[in-house]
Amino acid sequence: MYPRNMNNKQRYDLYYETIKAATDKYLKAQFSDELPPSFFEVNRTVIAEKNITGLHYFLKGFHKIEKPTRKEVAEIKALSENMPSFSIENVHVDYTEQHAGYKVSGAKGLSEIINDLRFSLDASNLQEQLAANQEKYTLKDGDFACAYCGRAWPIKDAVRDVVISRTYASTGMRKEFDYCSKQCADYNQMAHEG
Ligand SMILES: [Zn+2]
Repeated sequence: MYPRNMNNKQRYDLYYETIKAATDKYLKAQFSDELPPSFFEVNRTVIAEKNITGLHYFLKGFHKIEKPTRKEVAEIKALSENMPSFSIENVHVDYTEQHAGYKVSGAKGLSEIINDLRFSLDASNLQEQLAANQEKYTLKDGDFACAYCGRAWPIKDAVRDVVISRTYASTGMRKEFDYCSKQCADYNQMAHEG
């Protein structure tokens, strides 16, 4: 029990800090030494570096509240007393990266970085994927680049389709593109909607 003179905010923060200590401990255990400085992503034919700024643990109902109600205090109390078991699926890596001259920030699931072949904590692990992509995206004789996914594809197998969009007002709201597949044509139309 907490002292009688504590207000909702103080009670809430007490449970919040208890949970935070547990999640911090779990996060710390993910890397034996210290947090790696970055992770890497193969994006078409380049390897992009993402600078790791921290880790956070996603837990439903676990967030800071400025003015918690009694109900919210009761909810976080229940959470602190009945914590779901920890899972790497809930560990998110916060990062920043340079993108077109801007610094952008984001978060990526740690399990995805570990299991998805497009990501790695070690750039040298991505060389195979990079080589496969270079093969996929480098234009050879008789190829064109798909207007949606960018992969090299034989001109003779091109799927020509029309995008209808206000973007192309000057050409009657429509413009023709060549794609590697009907799926890419559909995705490109969707990308122009909404
Ligand atoms: Zn395509």
